[in-house]
Amino acid sequence: MDIQKAIYNDTGYSKERLDALLSVDAQKNLEQMAQKARQITRQRFGNTIQLYAPLYVSNFCVNHCPYCAFNCKSKLPRTRLTIEEACKEADILAAEGFRHILLVSGEDKKFINVEYLAELAKKLREKFSSISIEIYPLDTEEYKKLFAAGIDSIAIYQETYDRADFAKFHTAGPKSDYDWRLETLSRAAEAGFRSLGLGFLIGLSDWRTQTIALAEHANMLMKKYWQARVSFSFPRMRPAENVDEKLFRYMINDTELVQMMVALRLCFPDSEIVMSTRESARFRDNISQICVTRISAGSKTNPGGYGQEDDALEQFEVADDRTPVQIAAMLKEKNLEAVWKDWDKAFSK
Ligand code: SF4
Repeated sequence: MDIQKAIYNDTGYSKERLDALLSVDAQKNLEQMAQKARQITRQRFGNTIQLYAPLYVSNFCVNHCPYCAFNCKSKLPRTRLTIEEACKEADILAAEGFRHILLVSGEDKKFINVEYLAELAKKLREKFSSISIEIYPLDTEEYKKLFAAGIDSIAIYQETYDRADFAKFHTAGPKSDYDWRLETLSRAAEAGFRSLGLGFLIGLSDWRTQTIALAEHANMLMKKYWQARVSFSFPRMRPAENVDEKLFRYMINDTELVQMMVALRLCFPDSEIVMSTRESARFRDNISQICVTRISAGSKTNPGGYGQEDDALEQFEVADDRTPVQIAAMLKEKNLEAVWKDWDKAFSK
């Protein structure tokens, strides 16, 4: 497809359109793509950006993923939060103003199981208008229990959609089951989850073919589970304890990351675009004005990190360590409004 047509064509997603927007040639038109992405984002989402914070409840994990500090071969000390400890962490976030919280854990099924998450969610739901999870895959019945307890959103990344690369990076443990992971969001949607977060780990495989696979996955979910909203995340590899950066043969630069983000915005005008603290302050400030709709702030990637446990093993180093107040001020300076709550849990009943 012609690149100009791909930018200004208003008909949403097609593989041909996304191919054109992701092409090397389209980099010459990045400014046009960004302007169009900004216009669509402001039309669909107004001048608002939602703030959220991750709460890491355990850094134990049974999987081997060599790209992650939590992998089970790492001999570093581990931490799990009891329900009471997790509530204390959440209280700190609530006092900072957050009303969206993301519970994150390694695959620690012995401790962070459905009962633990349901009990924690029941305690948190009075303080938070939306509770999301980013944990290992569960079955539909388990998701139904979590939904009933107040968890309404999920994020899970396929890491790589390339089966051969996936097998190479996940040689053992439950995560080695590619299809079980791929079908996770379908099971969560069937259980009633209203927000489905997708992504792949940027650095493991060729980003252009991965973005097409991601879009095909999102398109299928949107057609089949039209009640739920799809969101895209862009986890680009970060330095982490005991992780060899030589593994990431497919790292991309800032220009390519912007191209990927705005190409998806053009093809999926109603989807949320999420930006974590993996990216630098400068990058986050700029991309917030173009296509981001949800941004994390003041994140700690180690269990207990908001309280005293600053020395617990973190999943990766954050690149933007500004406080939530500083992020809200940055957004204001750019004529954007930080939204701490945009969803009422009464809607998901
Ligand atoms: S990426 Fe997830 S599953 Fe893999 S080692 Fe890290 S926490 Fe465990």
